[in-house]
Amino acid sequence: MIVLTNTLTRQKEPLSVTGNKVRFYSCGPTVYGLIHIGNLRGALVADLLVRMFHLNGLDVEYVRNFTDVDDKIIGQARVEGVTSEAIAERYTREVQLDYERFGLIQPTYSPTVTGSMDAIITMIAELIQKGHAYQSGADVYFSLKTAPRYGALSHRYANDAQSRLEDVAKKQDDADFVLWKGSKPGEPFWASPFGEGRPGWHIECSAMIRQYLGEEIDVHHGGEDLIFPHHENEIVQSECATGRPLSRFWVHHGFVTMQDEKMSKSLGNVITARAWYEQYGAELGRYFLIQSHYRSIVSLTQDKVESARQGLRRMYEAKRSALAASGTGIAFRVESVRAAMMEALNQDLNIPAFFSLFFGAIREWNTHAEHASREDGEALLSLFAFVTEATGIGALEPDALEDAAAALLAARLEARQQRDFAEADRLRDALLKLGVHVIDQKDGTQRWEKV
Ligand SMILES: [Zn+2]
Repeated sequence: MIVLTNTLTRQKEPLSVTGNKVRFYSCGPTVYGLIHIGNLRGALVADLLVRMFHLNGLDVEYVRNFTDVDDKIIGQARVEGVTSEAIAERYTREVQLDYERFGLIQPTYSPTVTGSMDAIITMIAELIQKGHAYQSGADVYFSLKTAPRYGALSHRYANDAQSRLEDVAKKQDDADFVLWKGSKPGEPFWASPFGEGRPGWHIECSAMIRQYLGEEIDVHHGGEDLIFPHHENEIVQSECATGRPLSRFWVHHGFVTMQDEKMSKSLGNVITARAWYEQYGAELGRYFLIQSHYRSIVSLTQDKVESARQGLRRMYEAKRSALAASGTGIAFRVESVRAAMMEALNQDLNIPAFFSLFFGAIREWNTHAEHASREDGEALLSLFAFVTEATGIGALEPDALEDAAAALLAARLEARQQRDFAEADRLRDALLKLGVHVIDQKDGTQRWEKV
């Protein structure tokens, strides 16, 4: 039995699905730049959930969208002097590349706003027709007073956070939010019964869910910063349009922080998934970001990255020793630890307990490894295969760099952050001797290539 924390009830509840199938939606990125590792953590949490559903023998219909129409995209297009389409296309490609490199399971569908425009327009028209939305000038707004259950998820009511960016004068009520924005000169637009314009952010998820998964889904996932207002708005839009509950489970993951601040583009304290990949590789990124419980905060420090690296090293050492085992035998068994690890996954995706059980088995192995037989080795390897299936760890290329070079790179990044440029130069030379050429990036990170 799978138990998940449901944000709707603030409780751990057993997941029951109809027809052995989980209909699962995870809010995807807005494609106006490279994703940062906080965004990547979200994609990895969705990935872990899907793997856990599969291990329980469930079919999964998994949808993750790309927001390819948005104010931020239009803004970035102006900065670069290119079209919004060019920005959205480029960063959809770049984000897909990051997803592939970090070994993320492909969703069943990855819809875009531009590809779902008919479904979006249909839903807005329905909301108007049912009296839950109104046209004001060239815009359409959702009327919050027609949705008395608003706030069920966040226990909050609309505050000015959601009206700040909108044209208050056009609304019947400050709390109302936009479904359709009339086009302004130079902005992308689509024809609709409400005039030329483009959809607001919230309506796209509601429309895509209905188009790809139906009117009621099992699990909806996103970052905890989306609970309000985004998910609250999704709920009222969908439920007022269909008359049915949108999702039975709402699952939210915590932030990634740096120096105790939430990592976000607006705060400017981001490490992109790309920079991480280039510096540390995908395997360490995946392991570092998934090893904490999904609901807790991941705080990024050099020590924690280093200890994740040590953890991976212990795993791979044990794996090598299992592959080489040729002793007389230690009767190594993994059935009970595997069952306990599965139970940890099913208990609200308890990855810390999962890995602590796994490391327990590795310790046990290490104590007797010198006498282990081939059969013993195969038992441990089968546990590794299970870990890979459940978490993706073990399936990605190991660090492309030798440990020594990786440690020097990390030390050099730190030296630069401390503005100790003499030390940074010394480490650059040391790296070059190991065949690694370091290139400093404008954003303070470093790229490397083998020479
Ligand atoms: Zn969404």
